[in-house]
Amino acid sequence: MKSTIVEIDGDEMARIMWHQVKNTLLLPYLEMNLAYYDLDLKKRDETNDKITLEAAEAIKKYGVGVKCATITPNKDRVKEYNLKQEWASPNGTIRAALDGTVFRAPILVKNIPPAVRSWKKPIHIGRHAYGDVYKNCEYRVPEAGKAEMIFTNSAGKEMWRGTIQDFKGPGIIQGIHNTDKSIISFAKACFTYAYDQKLHMWLGVKDTLSKTYDAQVRKLFEEEYQKNWKTKYEKAGLEYFFTLIDDAVARIMRTEGGMLWACKNYDGDVMSDMLGSAYGSLAMMTSVLVSPEGFYEFEASHGTVQKHYYKYLKGEKTSTNPMALIFAWTGCLSKRGELDKTPEVVEFAKKLEEAALETVEEGKLTADLIRVATPDKKNKQVYTEEFIAEVAKKLQKKLG
Ligand code: NAP
Ligand code: MG
Repeated sequence: MKSTIVEIDGDEMARIMWHQVKNTLLLPYLEMNLAYYDLDLKKRDETNDKITLEAAEAIKKYGVGVKCATITPNKDRVKEYNLKQEWASPNGTIRAALDGTVFRAPILVKNIPPAVRSWKKPIHIGRHAYGDVYKNCEYRVPEAGKAEMIFTNSAGKEMWRGTIQDFKGPGIIQGIHNTDKSIISFAKACFTYAYDQKLHMWLGVKDTLSKTYDAQVRKLFEEEYQKNWKTKYEKAGLEYFFTLIDDAVARIMRTEGGMLWACKNYDGDVMSDMLGSAYGSLAMMTSVLVSPEGFYEFEASHGTVQKHYYKYLKGEKTSTNPMALIFAWTGCLSKRGELDKTPEVVEFAKKLEEAALETVEEGKLTADLIRVATPDKKNKQVYTEEFIAEVAKKLQKKLG
């Protein structure tokens, strides 16, 4: 490896698997230059979450990072880990710092048919990774009163004021935002990704209801399409399709697949979990954050797999699926190799992916997959370490 990868460590079962993957599948074969940031929840607490910002800055410095799943603390976690406060979501913090789009794609294998019968090709999701509810301002309204929204321009002049609600009693309010700049770069990233991967491009928002906010998202996508992509798409036989988000959801369940589905931040969060699970398991989904400046952060789209971790702590072996973590590493190695012009690194990543896919296709399956795999005599449920050991065996063979 010529230059550096930013490694961001995480929590619970994902962290356990992270180190198994690194120690068994990477370190024996690669000399890696890693800038290591430990986002273990206790470390974030000790540093008052400064470590998260430093990790984001490191990705800006080195260009490519890989991240393990981390706990986003809620009230239960504050108690469990005795935290100073409910720290913000690290993914939220990193995404806000890098802006950009999260692309998610299923990891397809022959012996795991999608739960949705009509899906023949992968459905990719492009999730806008900036703003909306992930960078909100919210308030618990304690009593009757009036909630207003005010915009004051930078010269200090009040430009606009609107009533959110005249409360007769307690309630809740929330302010969210996005910027034209971020939406345009989201649109550019999606049109580029879909075009490169020969996918149709879908966008769904709720502009019938949200006549200013969602309507602006629709308008900026349409302008970007007309200005920079229409001719190219038509030539390539690709379609840009806009529809209401609920209609998009309904149609997705009846398509063949083969599109990039551009989603607002929250829709992308929710829909990628649905897609992952319908393609077999949350662990069968790759995820990469692409920033407009050309920074990349690879991660698994699942969380820390808390329930499995509690079993692990009791000394039980678990059958947790490391596929998405393996693919986070291969995605990042492959990008590093591409940017550094070191084809050996790209080739290594490819071989590791093949070894992992073949392990699943041979019927060595973790518990999440054995439930959904095509029944076969050779199918065998394995523990995480056994799965990783099998991948290592196959990788070894491929590397000669
Ligand atoms: P989760 O960790 O994704 O797990 C939810 C369930 O999905 C698991 O209980 C398990 O089902 C299944 N699952 C997920 N990943 C799996 C894998 N690799 N192998 C096998 N099964 C897998 O979500 P969560 O339990 O809602 O969240 C736990 C923590 O993760 C939370 O603190 C949350 O903040 C955090 N989180 C982090 C990220 C991130 O950093 N990217 C994303 C989401 C959530 P069964 O129990 O049925 O086996
Ligand atoms: Mg999610």
